[in-house]
Amino acid sequence: MNDVWPDEWGVYILDNESTATRFIDKKIKELDAMDSEEPFQVLNLDTLIQMHLKWLSYLPRVKPFYAVKCNSTETVLRTLNALGTGFDCASKGEISQVLSLGVKPENIIYAHTTKPQSHIKYACAQGVNLMTFDDEEELQKVSRCHPKAKLVLRIAVDDSSSFYRLSSKFGAGLSTTGRLLECAAELGLEVVGVSFHIGSKCSQSLAFRQAIADARSVFDTAVSDFSLLDIGGGFSGKDFPFSEVINGALDEYFPFESGVQVIAEPGRYYAESPFTLAANIIAKRIIMEDMRTEGEVPERLMMYYLSDGVYGSLNFLLRDVQVSPYLHRSSEKRYRSVIWGPTCDYIDKIVDNYLVPELHVGDWLLIDNIGAYGISISTEFNGFKRSSIYSVVTNETWHTLNLSSHILKKNLSIS
Ligand code: PLP
Repeated sequence: MNDVWPDEWGVYILDNESTATRFIDKKIKELDAMDSEEPFQVLNLDTLIQMHLKWLSYLPRVKPFYAVKCNSTETVLRTLNALGTGFDCASKGEISQVLSLGVKPENIIYAHTTKPQSHIKYACAQGVNLMTFDDEEELQKVSRCHPKAKLVLRIAVDDSSSFYRLSSKFGAGLSTTGRLLECAAELGLEVVGVSFHIGSKCSQSLAFRQAIADARSVFDTAVSDFSLLDIGGGFSGKDFPFSEVINGALDEYFPFESGVQVIAEPGRYYAESPFTLAANIIAKRIIMEDMRTEGEVPERLMMYYLSDGVYGSLNFLLRDVQVSPYLHRSSEKRYRSVIWGPTCDYIDKIVDNYLVPELHVGDWLLIDNIGAYGISISTEFNGFKRSSIYSVVTNETWHTLNLSSHILKKNLSIS
């Protein structure tokens, strides 16, 4: 493999024979040579770009506004900006981060219904006008802090088939939307459309269909014509199970001729699969289990301690997600094992009852698909530093998409 060189923004361009996996091998060798156990992540920009191309082919009518909260790694934001997505920001901090990368204010939706007043004022000063609301109190705040805002009414939808049920916290019930629209009109505020979030890890495509139908019913009660439908996030990071149902519902309730612009706020969809974690086995214990019957051979339970865990890049494990670490080097026989994170807390467990070959202190484990809600929620609990992130891209992709010039240019405009 030829050397790969980080460019000005830290993107490593892989030569024709190289791959992200080879890059990881090389990095591990470098770290081993320095006696370093520090965990690191590799962001594969080819995968991120493929996810975007897949989005365009599966949901051609829906413009993605990437949910920055999911993973705000600068290279992710720069790449998506170069590809022409918009951004869903939840706070002044996120707005400021994407603006500093050259994103135009009109490509941002401030998609939080309960906003601090100072953050609304900041959005106003920066020309970020599109923002969501679901309550009269929020309308009062917006009328004081950003009277020219273009408001999107977030409705609560049936999220009973989703694992993360956001509608218990956000979204106006359908019986209240009429009053909210009246209130906005009384305050002289402009409402331009409707949004919802189906919840994350939704298992029923019909939930999307019903939510789109619910949004239509709110459009039908509007005094002035709405122009925007925002179908939120909740898309899987692996496949596209609901695109047919979504496209069908859009054609039925918001046909192309209606002129309604459709956007979405995907987070996990983009960020999950491009990231792989490499973490080092920093400690090992072998537990001989008690023999219950005389003569029985005691079973060995292997306990391994990794240099990253749930307080770091794998924070999402505290919710429901499971991971399948695999060995950087190959081996044969497998043993029942527990893999822990590095901190003193017992909840810092990565995987239980897991069959892996015997590992040794100094080995590296890899974990794929760790980009969503990990690094963005990570801490330095117990003094363990956050993992570094290396971004890689193949030479071909880099030049084909002319990303180099887009990403390297600080004041990038959306093409
Ligand atoms: N939009 C809003 C308002 C959210 O709260 C979230 C996640 O919490 C998202 C978008 C992104 O959701 P997902 O990562 O499931 O696509």
